[in-house]
Amino acid sequence: MLHIALHFLIPLLVALTFYRRRWRNTSLILVATMLVDADHLLADPIYDPERCSIGFHPLHTVPAIVIYLLLFVLPLIVGRNSRVTGLTHPVNVLHLVGLGLLIHMALDGIDCVA
Ligand SMILES: [Zn+2]
Repeated sequence: MLHIALHFLIPLLVALTFYRRRWRNTSLILVATMLVDADHLLADPIYDPERCSIGFHPLHTVPAIVIYLLLFVLPLIVGRNSRVTGLTHPVNVLHLVGLGLLIHMALDGIDCVA
């Protein structure tokens, strides 16, 4: 239960800390990345509290996490060299989607070591 609460609380705290002017939309995008857990539907059982998601579910594997890292980092590089402003710009949305997915993987990863 704490795990699920953290999936809402941490994105909210990150949005309030680093994206204060647009924290509502930012936290909405960050929380929406929980949809990545749709890959649990491929597993049997769908939910197992003892299972480590990282490396087990397809969207929780290292190659997927590398893509999330690129989503997070590339907009920072592209955004610096162009006039990419505003939360609704696709580049900024990609950045936040990548950030949300990285936060998600980190929180799921805690379960693997705890
Ligand atoms: Zn997950």
